[in-house]
Amino acid sequence: MIITIDGPAGSGKSTVAKLLAERLKVRFLDTGAMYRAIALAVLRAAIDESNHEEVARISKTVQIRFDGQKLILNGEDVTSEIRSPDVTAVSSIIASNPQVRNRLVALQREIGEQGSMVTEGRDQGTVVFPDAEHKFFVTANLEARARRRQRELAQKGVQQPVSSVMEQLRQRDERDETRAYAPMKPAEHATIVDTSELSIGEVVEILVRRITGES
Ligand code: C5P
Repeated sequence: MIITIDGPAGSGKSTVAKLLAERLKVRFLDTGAMYRAIALAVLRAAIDESNHEEVARISKTVQIRFDGQKLILNGEDVTSEIRSPDVTAVSSIIASNPQVRNRLVALQREIGEQGSMVTEGRDQGTVVFPDAEHKFFVTANLEARARRRQRELAQKGVQQPVSSVMEQLRQRDERDETRAYAPMKPAEHATIVDTSELSIGEVVEILVRRITGES
């Protein structure tokens, strides 16, 4: 069984997807981590992130795999490094590159063939697993998402005013929603869940009830 959870940054979808996978005893796939790994490889190679050919070239040469929840790039554990603000910004730029997307979509489908999972990203229900059994689009208003992201950053020792977090999220949403190839949008028949006023626990319950057919 494949369950897709798509939605914008800060919507709570990662935490919800992880908890849902635990609850259902299936695997969890964080596809954003894969785009972040390519972004890190691009930053390390010091090439222009908007240069489609160079970015495509790098994306073909890197090896990306998961070891549990750890992301391994060319044999190195980069799980923490891919969460830096620089990687975050570059990830949504290289994500508009069709060759990068084709490579990662193929990898995601390979992982999906190995059994049931909850997979989260921006295109999981629309492009990667259009036949998934259950599809969700988890979202929240910009201010709620910015406040959550600000708290996460503060926990890592990064202090940023909510206005600047909001502006970064807005720019990232805009890039993700307006790209020509696989833009972020709810899949057909996806259940849309607005988490602005809900706790993580409440969101997980809504998804579980939907999957088990209780609502
Ligand atoms: O989900 P996360 O914030 O880690 O994703 C980082 C970036 O990767 C997103 O802003 C988006 O541009 C890109 N992404 C994507 N498709 C996915 C997952 C992530 O385009 N399935």
